Amino acid sequence: MLNTMADDLQILFLPFLSPGHIIPMVDLARLFAGRGIKATVVTTTGNVPLVKPTVDLANTDASLRHPIQLLPLRLPCSEAGIPEGYENLADFPESDPDDFFRFIAATERLEPSFSLVLKTHRPDCVVVDFFYPWATRVAQDASVPSLLFNGSNFFSSAVIKIVQDGELKQGDLETERLIEVPGIPQKIRLKLSNLPYNVLHPNQFSHRMAESLHRIHGTVVNSFYELERDYVDRAPNSRDVRFWFVGPVSLQNRDMDTKMVRGSGDAASGSADHFLSWLETKRPRSVLYVCFGSMAWFTATQLREIARGLEASDRPFIWVVRNAGETSEWLPEGFESRVVGGGKGMLVQGWAPQLLILNHEAVGGFVTHCGWNSCLEAIAAGVPVITWPLFAEQFLNEELLVNVHKMGISIGVLSSCDKAEERTVVNGEQLKAAVDELMGSGEEAEERRKRARELGQTARRAMEEGGSSHEAMTCLIDELIRLKTTVD
Ligand code: UDP
Repeated sequence: MLNTMADDLQILFLPFLSPGHIIPMVDLARLFAGRGIKATVVTTTGNVPLVKPTVDLANTDASLRHPIQLLPLRLPCSEAGIPEGYENLADFPESDPDDFFRFIAATERLEPSFSLVLKTHRPDCVVVDFFYPWATRVAQDASVPSLLFNGSNFFSSAVIKIVQDGELKQGDLETERLIEVPGIPQKIRLKLSNLPYNVLHPNQFSHRMAESLHRIHGTVVNSFYELERDYVDRAPNSRDVRFWFVGPVSLQNRDMDTKMVRGSGDAASGSADHFLSWLETKRPRSVLYVCFGSMAWFTATQLREIARGLEASDRPFIWVVRNAGETSEWLPEGFESRVVGGGKGMLVQGWAPQLLILNHEAVGGFVTHCGWNSCLEAIAAGVPVITWPLFAEQFLNEELLVNVHKMGISIGVLSSCDKAEERTVVNGEQLKAAVDELMGSGEEAEERRKRARELGQTARRAMEEGGSSHEAMTCLIDELIRLKTTVD
């Protein structure tokens, strides 16, 4: 009976406009659609090309009871004070907090059209991004239950809550300290200055986000229970809000075409064959994948050091570089002919099909900036990591991977910094040392690989029928059916 009623549910998904938020929210919409629910992704006209190929491919699945809909809204850029066509945070030339808040203010202009959408579509629930506190208010006004999607894990929000409730007010931000999560054995190593900008500098926006927690029905987390069990069962934030752990949502991208278009539309730099035929020439677990997500910027000096480190480590690699100028400005002389031309390394300027690469058996390590999607994709693929956090909650994600689950090595970045030119340069020797340790054959490296592999198996089991995330989805759908029945 419940299944029949799941068929009647209609859910709208409203992701924040950056790749790291749109990608998992589209995955989530597909997850719900796979359970028979009418799912509609609401985005802006400028972001349609990034999403439509994924939605179109998903809709070729004959087992879907309802095709996923795509609903574009107009973002009035110039009225909102941002350049026309800059409809994605990744379009901005630096990861600067000022740009972020300007963009956040611009996205608030979506409120009237989203409100109209709720009136005309009358969905049974909306899943809204953490960065859209206005959307939970609009939903409340329209008597539509809302769920929050915070794009990150439970662990980081638990630590942030503990810090906000006490420690942040005390003492020196630059001193590393051990934070205790009540009731759990491990302590969390943290420098308070490495917390996300909006936690360190609370402003109107942080208050609005906090207020929004009182309006939601609960939070959907792209993570799985087994990964965060200690925190879920005991952390203080688990008492305030309901959580459903339904990930890793990336795991439903099973076929090659879907992995190719995910996140970039048709804009991946190279075909699947281009990547696969290169990877197939390499030994299992010999390739290092290096990618810093969708928005990270590096100076020419830093890029040159990465190139030096990769060349010195003398292992095959795929290195994704975004937002960089001419290679002549940052690549060491002769790098392209010696390393790329020699088949040792692949340099991708633009967008790489990360899931396709990470899940190839030739890949044995991942240098990541610790954006949560990348962390979870590494976990799901069972690939150990070198962590190189830059900003936001990435230092907390590093802690989870390196010190809690022991599936990674820290490159040793000490301070969070939004601006590329203000960061301390990680030199080539540091990178080489970390690569040798990660990809080497010692006992510790083997143990790390084993832990990563086992965590990957647990992640995949969580998404299968009977697994924890699958069960959580069932509970959530039942809950939404109950809500609909009560309202009707
Ligand atoms: N991604 C990708 N190819 C790229 C760069 C990024 O597929 O060349 C995807 C990656 O798989 C992940 C998302 O973009 O799903 C980035 O999200 P994450 O949270 O890791 O970092 P952010 O970009 O938000 O900093």
